[in-house]
Amino acid sequence: MSNEQKKNTAVEVATPSRTRDIVKKYGFEFKKSLGQNFLIDQNILHKIVSAAELDSTKGALEIGPGIGALTQHLAQSAGKVTAVEIDNRLIPILRDTLADEDNVEVIHADVLKLDLQQLFAERFADVSGVSVVANLPYYVTTPILMKLLEDRLPLENIVVMIQKEVADRMAAKPGGKDYGSLSVAVQYYCVPSIVCIVPHTVFIPQPNVDSAVIKLKLRDKPAVETPDEAHFFRVVQSSFAQRRKTLMNNLSSWLGKDQRETLTSLLEQIGIDPGRRGETLSLDEFAKLSNTLHGAGLGLEG
Ligand code: SAM
Repeated sequence: MSNEQKKNTAVEVATPSRTRDIVKKYGFEFKKSLGQNFLIDQNILHKIVSAAELDSTKGALEIGPGIGALTQHLAQSAGKVTAVEIDNRLIPILRDTLADEDNVEVIHADVLKLDLQQLFAERFADVSGVSVVANLPYYVTTPILMKLLEDRLPLENIVVMIQKEVADRMAAKPGGKDYGSLSVAVQYYCVPSIVCIVPHTVFIPQPNVDSAVIKLKLRDKPAVETPDEAHFFRVVQSSFAQRRKTLMNNLSSWLGKDQRETLTSLLEQIGIDPGRRGETLSLDEFAKLSNTLHGAGLGLEG
């Protein structure tokens, strides 16, 4: 069946009544510890899927399909879908709700323990591009996203529903309270944009916080060049170690008080005022700082 035909004949999972029926039929009890909040809003699902720019030549990796609300839409928009679900109680339910979708494979696993490089090689060798699309379990949002980025998977987009507060931090620009090491890490690999803000009322059960859909468009190469990536991230972490401290105080806590004079002259050389706070530095400035400290042999050990 073509994707268009599937769209016309599908029975939507993501409506309040259908979701309640499925939960009742299987006697499913939600586990808060697994971040189980199922989406019941078609409009939000359309926004998520359209942000991922899928077509029948593309692959989609979904993390945490739940009862298949988003999976069903992905199956109708992508050529191939792989959905990784940790909760074995959901596997028979997914078999049922996705019975008509012949381009979906469900894997029962903890995504954090999966060899994703291998999964991509086995599953997505013949597609023209892959995006991760998910309503993520909030208790592990950052570890999952950092794994996807640090594993250097050949991804086009990551479109995910996450806690609004975390989305704001990922997309933050220098100078504000939301900007921190997570903003730098995400923006090093991707260009972030907020797709929409999502009220807590469109989930069963409702979470305590509002959510946002964020799109992370993967860059062809990292935003800045560094001789040593691990050193760059050590500089970033150290600069934000105590947010209220100046850059000089944070760097000298990291590198040793006896380095203050050297640090003052190095910062002067690259035109960064030692009295600034880490939260005002752009990615370019962090790269300059890392390159200069690295050149001076400072902070080379992890
Ligand atoms: N996609 C569904 C939806 O939008 O209605 C469910 C989203 S729910 C917020 C998160 C899902 O992730 C749950 O089904 C949960 O069991 C699953 N999950 C939690 N931790 C996981 C992990 N480490 N690996 C894979 N799936 C996980």
